[in-house]
Amino acid sequence: MSAPQDPRFGALANLELNAVMRGRPFPIERLDEVLSEGLPWVPANVCISACNTIPPDNPFGPVGETRLVAAPGAPMILPAREDRPAMALYLADIRHHDGSFWPPCPRSQLARALDDLRAQHGLVLKVGFEHECYIYGLEDAPTGAYSLAGSRKASGLAAEVQDTLATAGTRLEQFIAEFGVDQFEVSTPVHEALTAADHAVLAREAIRDGARARGAHVTFAPKPDLAQAGSGVHIHFSLWDVADRPHTAHGDALTATAGAFAAGILKHLEAVMAYTTPSPNSFQRIAETSWVGVFACFGVRNREAALRLCPRGAAPDGSHPGASLEFRLCDGASNPYLALAALVRAGMLGLAEDLAAPESVEIDPARIDPATREARGFRRVPHTLETCLAAAAPLAPAWFGELFWQAYGAARRNEINDAASAGSDYPARLSRIV
Ligand code: GLU
Ligand code: MG
Repeated sequence: MSAPQDPRFGALANLELNAVMRGRPFPIERLDEVLSEGLPWVPANVCISACNTIPPDNPFGPVGETRLVAAPGAPMILPAREDRPAMALYLADIRHHDGSFWPPCPRSQLARALDDLRAQHGLVLKVGFEHECYIYGLEDAPTGAYSLAGSRKASGLAAEVQDTLATAGTRLEQFIAEFGVDQFEVSTPVHEALTAADHAVLAREAIRDGARARGAHVTFAPKPDLAQAGSGVHIHFSLWDVADRPHTAHGDALTATAGAFAAGILKHLEAVMAYTTPSPNSFQRIAETSWVGVFACFGVRNREAALRLCPRGAAPDGSHPGASLEFRLCDGASNPYLALAALVRAGMLGLAEDLAAPESVEIDPARIDPATREARGFRRVPHTLETCLAAAAPLAPAWFGELFWQAYGAARRNEINDAASAGSDYPARLSRIV
């Protein structure tokens, strides 16, 4: 007889355009065959919304077939529960039948963007993710923001998540009670970008699985409850050359390379937001003076700037391996692979144009008078997803290709329709799935 943690099933899964992990389970006896051949997958599945609707204008319709192909690396073993055997989760790319690149696959898009960054600029991106989330149903006793008692509530779940992630060779760096009631923040380790995104995606699934087993429910939705703090995804990133030398900061200032990259992100911020804040609920989170970073500006240690430099103590020669840039205008409705791919594409435009490093804003930009703000170029970010989609449309074919944009644009418009149909129930409906 097999041990309870021996998986009975495997699954190939892909985080699709609406940040829902979808995939195909199979009996573990088929593992060798599945790992070498992949499994068939319906193209239109990448577009299904969190409310379970399919965009009427998606480019696939009922025809065609793609393949789920396992990414290299160990699977994550979701633990056995009372009535659920253990399952080996393999992250997968979606490919054409012949194994070639299929543009609507978010994970493949990130791999391609990182290849371009290395080939064109000799740069490597390292990333650490912080995810905020709400976990409902753990325990009713009220606890304070950031309190130890609040963190203790979730420590049983956190311990199980560590064990689950360890099966895939990763872990959580931190698990802490956040500001909102029942809100938590989890961070995942710094790695090269594709691995960092894989581990963040696995962490989301491990937390969902563990919460469900406790009769609790986790949501990474940006604003599940309009009366509570929003949940952001803060992306810490740093630039390195191929010899693994740091190029993010010198002392407490951006290097020319990181300055151009950051300036590219700020210049194309509205387009980037089509990928990082991709749901109407995202815009219910985006508000002044709530540490979201709603102005297109940069600030050293400034949590109200869209891009914050976090210096961590430079060496006497000024080199600064610990420094990271934090992009704050991202949330859990986004797909981490696409969020990173968009940051890379915008940053590469900044490098190609050799843009000057942005000036550092030292106060909450909301407190700068509007005329001065405008003169210094600190734009308030859009209030709607539609505006961001309009900004993203002209850049998308060069960034991700026409087919990708047909699928992604259709998915986003469909999400806008879902929100309109659900009305005031929309945050709750999104929160059930995302
Ligand atoms: N919850 C805030 C957000 O929506 C961020 C709070 C923090 O800085 O940890 O991004
Ligand atoms: Mg936080």
